[in-house]
Amino acid sequence: MDLLDYSEEIRRQLKEAERLRFTDPARVIQIGMKLAEIGRENGDDALQGMANFCVGDAYYTVANGEQCTRYINHAIHELTRAKEWQKLGECYNLLGILFSHQGNTSQALSSYYSAMELVEMYNLDFLGAMVYENYSELCDRSNNEEEAYRKILIAKAYIEKIRNHPRQSNVKAAILIRMIKTLLKLNRMEEVRVRMWELNQLLEKTPTLIHDEQISLDLQVLDTLWKHAMGDSEAEEESLQKTIEDFMNCNHRIDFFWTCVELMAYLQKTHRYEELEFAIQQMEKSLREGTASFPDLQAHISRYKVALLTELDRQEELFEELKRYYKYEALQKQQANTTIGLYLETQNSLLLSRKTNMILRQQADTDELTGIANRRRLNETLDEAFETMYSSQKKLGVLMMDIDKFKNVNDTYGHAVGDLCLKGVAHSIARFQDTGINCARYGGDEFFLVFRDKTPRQISQIGRMINMSLQEYIQENNLPTFTVSMGVCLSVPKELNKSWDFTSLADKALYAVKADGGNGILIVRNEAQINTRLINRIDEINCYEVDDSFEKQSV
Ligand code: GH3
Ligand code: MG
Repeated sequence: MDLLDYSEEIRRQLKEAERLRFTDPARVIQIGMKLAEIGRENGDDALQGMANFCVGDAYYTVANGEQCTRYINHAIHELTRAKEWQKLGECYNLLGILFSHQGNTSQALSSYYSAMELVEMYNLDFLGAMVYENYSELCDRSNNEEEAYRKILIAKAYIEKIRNHPRQSNVKAAILIRMIKTLLKLNRMEEVRVRMWELNQLLEKTPTLIHDEQISLDLQVLDTLWKHAMGDSEAEEESLQKTIEDFMNCNHRIDFFWTCVELMAYLQKTHRYEELEFAIQQMEKSLREGTASFPDLQAHISRYKVALLTELDRQEELFEELKRYYKYEALQKQQANTTIGLYLETQNSLLLSRKTNMILRQQADTDELTGIANRRRLNETLDEAFETMYSSQKKLGVLMMDIDKFKNVNDTYGHAVGDLCLKGVAHSIARFQDTGINCARYGGDEFFLVFRDKTPRQISQIGRMINMSLQEYIQENNLPTFTVSMGVCLSVPKELNKSWDFTSLADKALYAVKADGGNGILIVRNEAQINTRLINRIDEINCYEVDDSFEKQSV
């Protein structure tokens, strides 16, 4: 969404909502509702979706899961219509977090997958980093540290791809912190050290990170855990005091829920019951501020309280807490039932957007006029074929094809007839698609084929068959006569090659055929072979082997 499309007032309000995200959710809700109203009045799906996202997000920060789901649902519909993929992905990401707070792992996964789908389709690397980080946390929560580690590595790869995002350092720091905590749990101390070093480098380069409200607590907890692991008890004690202080001042503990749990686990493990009790009280307070609709979070806290009260042998309180614990469990079930309608609705929008995604992916990959693959898709296929042929050391073939004097066809018979000719070419090459050969329209009157492990003889025969099929099509459909030229690069990929070398050489071969009058094919292995004497007229190709001494042959 381009904010510049909006009036200054709307831009100001959106920024205000972003700024107040943690400090004043009630105000954010107000602003969001107002903007959604303006969006609705103007039939502006993007604005409406964005505004509803703000409202849903604000409800999330005050732990009101039901309202959050409701508004995010609206946003999903609107943002899908508006094709605002980044924001749409953020919606799924937030739903994933929400479901995981509610103890609904399968829904959480399904939401994260939807977000990942968008990440892949639209190269949303920043979103990718965020989603995989959350996914890693979900694995961690289910005590699957190995998987958590794998996922956080992916998150790291995404964040490394980005250039110049204003929040890149913050997210990178958060990812490194998560990674180190997981490595600590796995007791892989060597790697912990390496990543600690990396994190410190980052903090040195961007000192403001230490005070960033979205990572400072995370960072401080890590510091304590690290000092504990190092066995430096004096430093650990000092760090812990600072951690408790930060924890007290943190006014978005729901966002830091898992960090807070990690802190509680540490306090329990090190028998710091006083601090643990304090932390539990604070967490209970944060959850009460919302409408208590995150029973999974409450059950988590309650579990620590039960452990604490057992340890301290406070029987009466323990009994009360146990009752509460079972209540949360029941609540979790009940909530799943009463809000089933809402869940279903979300599921519907997930399905709806998945369907839209599939259609869009197809559109993004398909040439509109001819219905065959477009250049974008073929580039992917080519890269994949290049890698496979490189690792198996077999021949990769790239064929470029261009209609001869196509401008004349357009000028003489009009564009509509020109279009029919293009369809004819697509028709004659598409039949090879099923034989493991990939074809696409490169653009304009250029087409493109990729061959894996084919001999020159096979390729020239295919060229000939394409031409025969095309001439038949031309006759059957009463089209003006026209011919095509083909240039092929056929070679085993070498270490320093890029797939681009193949296309560019094929293009040069094609150019040589054109220069020779067109209606021919030239298959070469390297630039030195580009020689017009070697060109075959397509309808003459019968049988030949290309090698260094390959000569023109006639039937
Ligand atoms: P050459 O033999 O050198 O290839 O000559 P050419 O006239 O074919 O020249 P070139 O390949 O540069 O021109 C491509 C032409 O294809 C130009 C443009 O008018 C036409 N063209 C490109 N896209 C379309 C299309 O979608 N429909 C139609 N009808 N014509 C198109
Ligand atoms: Mg042409």
